[in-house]
Amino acid sequence: MSMYRTTLEQIEKRASLLKKLRPAYEEIIDFYSAIFTAQEASKLELDLEPIIIDPNVIKIKVESGMPLISPYQFTIDFKHAKELFLKLCKIAEGKAPKLKIDAENIISALSKNSLDLDKIFRTTIEKEQKYLKEVGSLLNLNEDALNFFALAAVAPSIQTCSVQLSHYINPNSPSDSLSAKSLSSNGNLEVVWKHGYCPICGSPPQLGFFSQDGEKHLVCSLCMHFWKVSRMGCSLCQNQDKEKHQYFFNEEEKEYRVYLCSSCGKYLKFVDLRELARDFYPPIEQLCTLHLDMQATEQGYSSAV
Ligand SMILES: [Zn+2]
Ligand SMILES: [Zn+2]
Repeated sequence: MSMYRTTLEQIEKRASLLKKLRPAYEEIIDFYSAIFTAQEASKLELDLEPIIIDPNVIKIKVESGMPLISPYQFTIDFKHAKELFLKLCKIAEGKAPKLKIDAENIISALSKNSLDLDKIFRTTIEKEQKYLKEVGSLLNLNEDALNFFALAAVAPSIQTCSVQLSHYINPNSPSDSLSAKSLSSNGNLEVVWKHGYCPICGSPPQLGFFSQDGEKHLVCSLCMHFWKVSRMGCSLCQNQDKEKHQYFFNEEEKEYRVYLCSSCGKYLKFVDLRELARDFYPPIEQLCTLHLDMQATEQGYSSAV
């Protein structure tokens, strides 16, 4: 299961709630909630062929701990991704002072037809930075901004494919909205995945969460699929030595916990849904916990992504 289908209204609601709770994040929440809203709206228009995988291949992959596909195998609706790309640049122009100039330059390059967006999308998904670098220096565009907009533009296609693929792993995957309630009632049906990467696409997790029944899950940084992991040990490297693990949290935000593992040197943020008084939308929680990333990094741990 991997669906965080969410209504545009819900994003607005969560965003305004969080802005009140975390005023320091106001500008960033404003910008990203506009991005998420555009992405969710784009999802409704997608025209994607399902990815077909032989059931025998699935069985072998799941049993041997291999992800179902590689990121480059996600089907992308290029037409809608391109429309979204332009929309996202325009949002940045209006709402993200730090990205404004970069967004303007990209929009201008687009209007001159000098960007091969299909290729940019493909190479971004494959983490093939060389092409973006070339385009960046040739057209005098910021490659990080290009990468950001490209990934955000293909996200609706990737997430939609991921939901389709998740039914191969878990036929009981919910295809409706993900709420704390559906999490706890469906969480138990899922098998524990004993690897620190996404069972669908092999990407590292962006964060984890505890469902209502205390089960531990991780959320994929690329396709947003989430999967159940063992409650014990490090979720990333599977080390079971208690001496190597610790966690910290801040008294005023008990819904977040950061796990540190000295075996792999990585940290992972967890959201405890039992302490969360709002709907859970991982990308927003990820954003509002950047101070925790800093705290973990200061202690010498690195991010899983
Ligand atoms: Zn994934
Ligand atoms: Zn570890």
